[in-house]
Amino acid sequence: MEPTETTVSRGNAKELVASLEGPRESFLVVDENVLVHHPFVGEASTKRFVVPSGEEHKSWETLGRLLEAMDEARVDRGDQLIAFGGGVTTDLAGLGASLYRRGLPWIAVPTTLIGQVDAACGGKTAVNLAGGKNAVGTFHLPSQLVVDPDFLTTLPLRQVQSGMVELLKTAILEGEDLLTLVEALEPASFIQTDSADQADRVIACALTVKESFVKDDVKDEGPRWMLNLGHSFGHAFEALALPDLLHGEAIGLGLLCAARLGTHQGGEAGLEERLRKTLDTWGLPLTPPEGRASDPDALLDTMRRDKKVRKGQSTVILPLSPGRVEVMNGPSQEALRMGLEAVLEPIST
Ligand code: NAD
Repeated sequence: MEPTETTVSRGNAKELVASLEGPRESFLVVDENVLVHHPFVGEASTKRFVVPSGEEHKSWETLGRLLEAMDEARVDRGDQLIAFGGGVTTDLAGLGASLYRRGLPWIAVPTTLIGQVDAACGGKTAVNLAGGKNAVGTFHLPSQLVVDPDFLTTLPLRQVQSGMVELLKTAILEGEDLLTLVEALEPASFIQTDSADQADRVIACALTVKESFVKDDVKDEGPRWMLNLGHSFGHAFEALALPDLLHGEAIGLGLLCAARLGTHQGGEAGLEERLRKTLDTWGLPLTPPEGRASDPDALLDTMRRDKKVRKGQSTVILPLSPGRVEVMNGPSQEALRMGLEAVLEPIST
C-alpha cells in the first residue's frame, strides 16, 4: 500500500478544498455537523453523501446507502473520495472507498480529536454489526491525511474530553516525556485558539507515534497491536453502554482495567492511580453506567466475542510503566475479572 502523505497545520483543509480541481473528481463524504459548522467543506464537491451523527450510523445500512449514492453519482475508478468528519465518518468512508469498484483513492480530513490523533491515521476502516464493533472492515490507507486543528474549535467539550483519552493512550505507549505533556493539558486547550501552539504540538506528536506503529505493520499483525492498549476492555464497555458512553470514555475505563492487570504482572504500582487522577481532572467517567456495562459476566461475554479473539483466545495489552507495555495472550477469566475491578469496585482516593 502506498504510504499516506500527512500534514498538520491550521488552514490546510481550506487549502485542500481550494486545490481540488484536477484530473480526479471528488466525491464528498461529510459528517452532518461538520457541514453546518464548517460550510466551506461543501465546496469540495457537489457529489456528496452526508453521514448522520452518531456511532449507530457506522453501520452496514449506512455503508449500503453510501455505495448506492456513489453509484448514482456515477463515480468511477478515476475519481477519489474525500471524507470530512470524526472516526465514524472516516471509518465508514474509508471502507466505502476500499469496496467501491474494488477500490478508489481517498483523502481523510479528520475533524474530531479522536479522528486527528487516531482514527483517520493508519488505514483501518470499518462498520459495526449488531454483535460486534468494527466487525466488518478493510485496510485501506488514505492517500492524504489532512489534519487541521481549527476544526476542533467547534467540537462539543465532551467530544474533546473523549478524544483526550486516545492521546493519553498514545502517551503511555511513547513514554514519560509525552505523558507528562499530555497530563498537563486541559480540554479547553483544544477549543481555544490562544492555546493553539500547545494543542498543535501534542496532536502532531501523537500522530507521529501512531504512524511509527503503523509503518511496519499496516495489516495489524504484530507491533500495531500495542495501539489497542485499553481497547479490549474498552470496546466491551462501549458496546454494552451504547449510546451512553463515547468511544474515548469507554477506552478510559479500559485503560484503568489494563493498568490494574499490568500491576499484577509486575508493572509500576502507581500507574493506575496516576491515570485515574488524569481522567478525573479532565472530567471523564471512572465507572461505567449502571446496567449491562457494569455486569462483569456481560462484559466478559462481550470480550470473548471481540473481533481480535483468535481461536477463542483474546489478547490484552498491559501498560507496565510509561513507554513499556506487554502483550498478554489468552488471559484467564479470573485475570480479566481482576482487571474489571478497577472500575467496578473503584479504590477510594
Ligand atoms: P464521531 O465521528 O461520532 O464524532 C463525534 C461527534 O462530533 C459527532 O456528533 C459529530 O457529528 C461531531 N463532530 C465531528 N466533527 C465536528 C466538529 N469539528 N465540530 C462539531 N461537531 C463535530 O466520533 P469520534 O469520536 O470522532 O470517533 C469515534 C469512532 O472512531 C468510533 O467508531 C471508533 O471505533 C473509531 N475509531 C477508529 C480508529 C481507527 O483506527 N480506524 C481508531 C480510533 C477510533
